[in-house]
Amino acid sequence: MSKEFVDVLVIGAGPSGCVSSSYLKNNNINVKVVEKTRFPRLVVGESLIPRVMDHFEEAGLFPALDKMGFEKKLGARFLRGEEVCLFDFSNKFGEGWDWTWQVPRADFDQVLAQEVINKGVDLEFETEVTGIEFHGTDSVTTVKNKNGEIKEIHAKFVIDSSGYGRVLPRLLDLEKPSKLSPHSAIFTHVKDINREEGTEGTLISFDIIETEVWLWVIPFSNGNTSIGIVGPTDYIDKLSESGDTAEALRKAISLSDYYVKRFGDVEFLFEPKHLKDYSCSVKKLFGDGFALTGNASEFLDPVFSSGMAFATESGMLAAKLALRQLNGEKIDWQKEYSDYILYGVNVFTTYVKEWYTGNLQELFFHQPENPDVKRKICAVLAGYVWNKKNTFVRIHDTAIKNLAEFIKTEKQKP
Ligand code: FAD
Repeated sequence: MSKEFVDVLVIGAGPSGCVSSSYLKNNNINVKVVEKTRFPRLVVGESLIPRVMDHFEEAGLFPALDKMGFEKKLGARFLRGEEVCLFDFSNKFGEGWDWTWQVPRADFDQVLAQEVINKGVDLEFETEVTGIEFHGTDSVTTVKNKNGEIKEIHAKFVIDSSGYGRVLPRLLDLEKPSKLSPHSAIFTHVKDINREEGTEGTLISFDIIETEVWLWVIPFSNGNTSIGIVGPTDYIDKLSESGDTAEALRKAISLSDYYVKRFGDVEFLFEPKHLKDYSCSVKKLFGDGFALTGNASEFLDPVFSSGMAFATESGMLAAKLALRQLNGEKIDWQKEYSDYILYGVNVFTTYVKEWYTGNLQELFFHQPENPDVKRKICAVLAGYVWNKKNTFVRIHDTAIKNLAEFIKTEKQKP
């Protein structure tokens, strides 16, 4: 069996793995990426939030992405019947990017991977990790390519960025059920032939059908739009009980008064995908000689588009710490990696939970708007969830609930 020796092996060439490997290569580390599929491949996660831009910039991947002309995302709109809540990232609390992109991920991820290859990273497509053994921090990973050829990759550190492949969580028994209640989604892309001119046509929107059920509309610069329905798993199962996901998504679109005219009869570009019980978690984010990043670790919910931001945040941080470790420093992975990442995960977990209780929706649609509250929540939605100067970060676990209770009590007053 052939053998290869590298400093760092990255499993998966999604955004998390590309950010890690690019950063490591820029710092002269011998890094290899193995990717199970051939790109372009279909993957969900099309609405980015501004925090990702910091990572793409730091990893040296921004210029290649910027050339592509992806649709700019300047904020996000939430709809509930006649009510509208519009967040503008330029009007947020604190520092940070005030725009990002909404992207067809097949194209986006291909550009990322190509740029990583252009930097000289050895990225092997159609090569799947099938096993791993650790000897202290050193590891031997077994991979199999599309021709069935098997080889060993010896690495001083492994970054698992395998997304829902969840390679190390499966191989090392690290899977843990999510604390969030089970939700599912059905989505596709459409040819957006009824798209309005100007901002209305390109604005990313989330239309609330019921408190726990919402439709996403993510227009792309290529003229197509992503549409998805999200809800409790029971609800989505019922919607799709015939097994026909196209019929289920058509039914969902018909429930949106706002969008039924635009999308009621448009062509679906592929058979809608059903993503069942998508939330996932792990027992730990690191171990001797490895770190889990992106969806290979924790995924919460699509409602605030936090998935890609955690994927790039954790990919970047794992790469930085691995570099320091390879340079001989002793790294406290618990404090510097796990505690840091989980702080942000916990903030977003509160927002996701309070979205589905309806409390956050009370705040979003309350009139008149409180500009200070809105700026602070906007910073969270932009992904700046480590800025403890923001009260809606620092006391996330009580701020939303208390304010929503106050609004509800005020509403009941005669
Ligand atoms: P991925 O992008 O999934 O990449 C992982 C790669 O690893 C894949 O290319 C895979 O082929 C490869 N791989 C898997 N197994 C192996 C193996 N054995 N060997 C080698 N390679 C392997 N996030 C957002 O930010 N915005 C959104 O709007 C959004 N919407 C979502 C909607 C739904 C319904 C769901 C479920 C998720 C959504 N997400 C969203 C989350 C988003 O999809 C992920 O957070 C993001 O793709 C994670 O990136 P990643 O790099 O960790 O993994």
